[in-house]
Amino acid sequence: MPANTSKAARLRVVPNLPEKEDVFRNEDGEVCEICYGTGVEIVPGKGARTCECRQRDSHSSFLDRAKLPRRYADCHFHNYKPQNPSQVNAFKFATSLTMEYPAVDQGLILMGTVGVGKTHLAVSILKGLTERGFTCLFYEFGTLLKEIQDSYNVNTKASELGVLAPVLNAEILVLDELGASKPTDWVRDTMAHIINSRYNDRKLTIFTTNYLDERKREKEETLEDRIGVRLRSRLYEMCRTIEMSGQDFRRQNRER
Ligand code: ADP
Repeated sequence: MPANTSKAARLRVVPNLPEKEDVFRNEDGEVCEICYGTGVEIVPGKGARTCECRQRDSHSSFLDRAKLPRRYADCHFHNYKPQNPSQVNAFKFATSLTMEYPAVDQGLILMGTVGVGKTHLAVSILKGLTERGFTCLFYEFGTLLKEIQDSYNVNTKASELGVLAPVLNAEILVLDELGASKPTDWVRDTMAHIINSRYNDRKLTIFTTNYLDERKREKEETLEDRIGVRLRSRLYEMCRTIEMSGQDFRRQNRER
């Protein structure tokens, strides 16, 4: 064994692998020699494990980079307790998506009323994928729109790419509370730009929304009412929709 046996030293990169989707490259465009950019290393006689090239820095700095608000620091799969079959279904889909990524061809929309655990599950996916070494980003939709709006430059009539670029480029994006912002033309155009760009680049996006597809009460707004027919239709193509029902978990806990 050579004298220098650190993990980083044992990692070498394959510079000239042909361009292929789902192959992870470092900043110089090089691909890891051990996993060939899949992020998974096969250990003879033991099975598969996350490749060393994806185990970067510490877990907490991963979460900082994902811009995950501190209030979600304790949301994990292991402390999610499904309360009914719809939540069991969502939990199973979320865990298998986390394990099977990048071999998945659809993202996810978790829809349901407030407090049924949509964000908890979306964050659990984000953390699971982060632990597997993938780069994730979390945004609450209203916050994102505000940041884009704040960066708008009246002279160039354009928003700063500095805000938008990470959202378009993130390997995995969680957009929390889709449809929560007042649906003006600008909001719809901005949503369409983000969603279409990610769809065209085949990047995984996970949405949560409090709006349902079917009106349960008269005058109740649906997701389509909030984001428009075309965008809803695009989301059908790019995501599996899972409706979660149940009572507000926080309220239930307070009343126990
Ligand atoms: P939603 O996004 O559907 O409005 P959240 O995911 O924000 O709801 O859940 C509200 C709170 O209740 C969070 O603190 C979350 O961790 C907790 N919670 C919700 N559902 C569950 C569950 N099934 N098991 C454990 N905690 C839950």
